[in-house]
Amino acid sequence: MDIQTVNHKSALAPIQSDTSPLAMNADAFRNAGHQLVDRLADFLTGLPERPVGPDASPAVIRAALGQRSLPQEGADASQLLAEAADLLFSGSVFNGHPRFWGYITSSAAPIGALADLLAATVNPNVALWPLAPMASEIEEQTVRWIAELLDYPDDCGGLLVSGGNMANMVGFWTARYTKADWDLRKAGMGAGAQRMRVYVSQQAHTWVEKAADLSGLGTDAVRWIPTDDQLRMDTVALRRQIAADRAAGDLPFLVVGTAGTVSTGAIDPLPELAAICQEEFLWFHVDAAYGGFAAMLAEAPADLKALREADSVAVDPHKWLYSPLEAGCALVRYKGLMRDTFSYYPAYYPTVEPDEEPPINFVEYGPQNSRGFRALKVWLALQQAGRSGYEGMLRQNIAHAQLLFDRVSEHPELEPFAQNLSITTFRYRPEDLQSGGEGVEEYLNRLNQELLVRLQKGGEAYLSNAVVQGRYLLRACIVNFRTRVADIAALPEIVARIGREVDAELRPQFGR
Ligand SMILES: *Cc1c(COP(=O)(O)O)cnc(C)c1O
Repeated sequence: MDIQTVNHKSALAPIQSDTSPLAMNADAFRNAGHQLVDRLADFLTGLPERPVGPDASPAVIRAALGQRSLPQEGADASQLLAEAADLLFSGSVFNGHPRFWGYITSSAAPIGALADLLAATVNPNVALWPLAPMASEIEEQTVRWIAELLDYPDDCGGLLVSGGNMANMVGFWTARYTKADWDLRKAGMGAGAQRMRVYVSQQAHTWVEKAADLSGLGTDAVRWIPTDDQLRMDTVALRRQIAADRAAGDLPFLVVGTAGTVSTGAIDPLPELAAICQEEFLWFHVDAAYGGFAAMLAEAPADLKALREADSVAVDPHKWLYSPLEAGCALVRYKGLMRDTFSYYPAYYPTVEPDEEPPINFVEYGPQNSRGFRALKVWLALQQAGRSGYEGMLRQNIAHAQLLFDRVSEHPELEPFAQNLSITTFRYRPEDLQSGGEGVEEYLNRLNQELLVRLQKGGEAYLSNAVVQGRYLLRACIVNFRTRVADIAALPEIVARIGREVDAELRPQFGR
């Protein structure tokens, strides 16, 4: 019986697709979309005139949103989108602003926003090739292009994940599986006779702890190796720790080198780490989430280029490829090991024809099941700018960080610390406190901490901080294609002006 012909009670009436509460006919979609795109275009061109972020407490932001209850009835899509845009334009920190230099968050390429719209509209599920034939092929091509930029073997395995943390964890899990000398996937961590150990520098990112914890090794498994005066891993100390762990009956399995530390952009001596891993039969992973893409530059230091020797590498397209969040990328030299680590193939996945070369099913190469089409925004941006376009933007970011370092060095109230890749660290130091003395370091830490809070609230520019050898530093990390020389040139005096204000207020309390 045809369901349409049955005279149902209205509650059971069949829903026509064009009257579904979520349906948008062509005109409605076009109108809502055009209105939104018009507003976004104005937003992007108006960014330099806006404060970098809102000076608003959590209470103010919450009040602006309002205590809404879940609506019982639906509403008009255009109106909802316009309202959401208002909320976000007034309550966001704009990392696309030319003066946003906080953390490691890049300005996002506009083509990435349009790519996300396209990806979400077609909505391929890039878990299984049969569900997303073209998207799977595009993701494979994107991974190959990223490998090519890094001069990494282009027959490697790889996939896109949410960010640097997940990309690093993919490397970590592959290393753990490969180096465990028992059936780790089946028997688990507890079945090993030895405790697994991982080696990173004291400047490494916190993902390592999270990975050791969540993977059942425990954070005690992480051996934090001291760094030299340039904050690079001390390889003598590394060898010593590996030997001590072996002597204690433990199982060293992984060395993680960092190509661009979060605090100061330091690059570990990767060629030496590679050699140590070869000698010791350890997995060599490089966390290149921030600095990796700088390896595309001809003038990149040899230490950075040596990431090509790693067994696995994590990079972050949502950092130095200027992809909108989220996009991380894991590369593993031997594709088969990735599959050995992650693959399950239950009966409800499609059958593979025995005589066909099976195309890639990304579900078998990482932790996710359903997967969105993150690769599209990366793939499109790589083509829009081309290799030389990217080289130019990275060079400019690095040049801006160097310029900032020079300007800070010339300023009598600012003290420079380090400059690596596109990170410059410095602090405010009143002229009469240049020569140090008792309690001065402690005071400078408090002063710079308060200075940063005011700078961020003031909206003139956005920096974050680093703590290096007990010193609280201001930190500019420039991964921003909108920044111009004038933006950099303005920063020292903005910081000094706020520094003077804060100093005038804090000094009496400090009793000096
Ligand atoms: C940013 C970063 C991470 C974490 O990446 P997310 O994209 O934030 O998950 C890890 N390691 C380094 C060196 C980083 O710079």
